[in-house]
Amino acid sequence: MNALETTPTPIAAPVGILAELTHRCPLGCPYCSNPIELEQRAGELETHDWMRVFSEAAAIGILHAHLSGGEPAARRDLVEIVAHCKKVGLYTNLITSGIGLTQERLKQLADAGLDHVQLSIQDAAPESADRIAGYKGAFARKMDVAKWVNEAGLPLTVNAVIHRANIARAGRMVEFAVELGARRVEIAHTQYYGWALVNRKALMPSRAQVDKAVAEVEALRETYAGKIVIDHVIPDYYARYPKACMGGWAKRTLNVNPHGKVLPCHAAETIPGLEFWNVRDHSLGDIWFNAPAFNAFRGTEWMREPCRSCPRKTVDFGGCRCQALALTGDARNADPICHLSPHHDKVSEIAATFDEVDENVPASDYNYRMLKTQVPA
Ligand code: SF4
Ligand code: SF4
Repeated sequence: MNALETTPTPIAAPVGILAELTHRCPLGCPYCSNPIELEQRAGELETHDWMRVFSEAAAIGILHAHLSGGEPAARRDLVEIVAHCKKVGLYTNLITSGIGLTQERLKQLADAGLDHVQLSIQDAAPESADRIAGYKGAFARKMDVAKWVNEAGLPLTVNAVIHRANIARAGRMVEFAVELGARRVEIAHTQYYGWALVNRKALMPSRAQVDKAVAEVEALRETYAGKIVIDHVIPDYYARYPKACMGGWAKRTLNVNPHGKVLPCHAAETIPGLEFWNVRDHSLGDIWFNAPAFNAFRGTEWMREPCRSCPRKTVDFGGCRCQALALTGDARNADPICHLSPHHDKVSEIAATFDEVDENVPASDYNYRMLKTQVPA
């Protein structure tokens, strides 16, 4: 793999930092994007470590801090962290399940300078929502949290991951987000890696269900124009070209995990042989510009054919490295979503498995996402 020193294009500063403050979370969503090997509480960065990280982020030009997890509200120092982000000039977005927030705590966060809240919902139907989350009472608590967010004067985004248990209500979730007072809603069809891959059989909808849900949500754009912004992430198995994953590897954002390891994307650790640096040993700027994992797939020099000579190589950057690895066995290959990839048949095989799903068969039991310390003996 080429190191960046051989690439003439200067490296721009990142725009955003996704801070996984903790992997602890009271919910157990079977599609959770956290890694299967979750980081334990022991070893989490301390408050002063995070403050240094956010100071360094601001110093290299980062604008947005996404405070995520796990459930970030599980950190007792969340208000302090938000106040520090405000002090160093970062725009803060709290990505939360809502569990662990009280009205008083939300008020403290707003007073500390929190800019935005992104609240996940599992379904618009209470019983199903609690079953998907693996947490009784989660739905009711989220309704309270949405109300408190509005009362605190904070802008709200609602996000919902779509799969077999809730796909019949994909359109309803847009309406539901409007009712909750959200200004933006993200309807994202499940991407099958990590926990979602473990649960693929239980989560996968039929192709007919996907087509219906996609059409339904798209039609709502007109209905709700001017009332709510709809971000719609549709399955890419039927696309001709891949998405520009992360806007390009190490181009716009970085992730810091609870123990301080810095990743170009949350699934990057699935790629063997990459060397990740930690904020305990290096400054964030040093990591962004010099860490081997960041330079491994930055720019276009690392590309093979057909990407190397493709005019779209600076548009989609060859798609997703983790998907290329998962489906072709080599992260340097073109994302096989691309119809030009010699491995595109793998994607056609997966697309065909949607056709085999019997939508009348209820989702089987989930392997709920859990920290090892939570797993019953
Ligand atoms: S997806 Fe669910 S389990 Fe994973 S961090 Fe978010 S709320 Fe917790
Ligand atoms: S060949 Fe590579 S760069 Fe070209 S469209 Fe396909 S994935 Fe993108």
